[in-house]
Amino acid sequence: MGHIIYKEFHGCFGHRVWNQNLEEKFADSTQCTCRYLHGHNFKTVVYLESDKLVNGMVTDFKHLGAFKKWLDRVMDHKTLMDISDPMIPTMLPKAKIEDAILELKDKLFAIPETKKELTELEYELYAGIVFVNFAPTAENISKWIFEAVNTLLPQGVRCTKVEFWETQKAGAIYTNE
Ligand code: ZN
Repeated sequence: MGHIIYKEFHGCFGHRVWNQNLEEKFADSTQCTCRYLHGHNFKTVVYLESDKLVNGMVTDFKHLGAFKKWLDRVMDHKTLMDISDPMIPTMLPKAKIEDAILELKDKLFAIPETKKELTELEYELYAGIVFVNFAPTAENISKWIFEAVNTLLPQGVRCTKVEFWETQKAGAIYTNE
């Protein structure tokens, strides 16, 4: 029992679920279309609680500004690529995973360090890629967002649930409840 606030964020992103393996018996299609590089307009909703209300608030909605900045930087209009994706050497032959910026502990961001080795157009391509250490499914992305938002909130405020809508009809929830 207690107060919960929530805020919704929108954006678009690209991904490729390289390890998709459909079971024909349950799928209405045998096409593993998520293996193709594609994109979505996403919606994510974060739910927050706090130890106590301050000025009648769990926290000011504006305190989600740092999270919004993170979301815009690592997700909006970016393509998430799993560092284990076997397509990387073909698609991004100059990617140096070991040079990727360590962000939010074990979460990997893009590779601007390699700028000097890239042409201008190559840099534009690589700057739009965000390397992560998980297959970018809705389930894994909702957990990634959950962990990120919890590092970007004022003391005493915590995120207890993240909804991640990959389409208007499908998504995933990560919660510590
Ligand atoms: Zn998808």
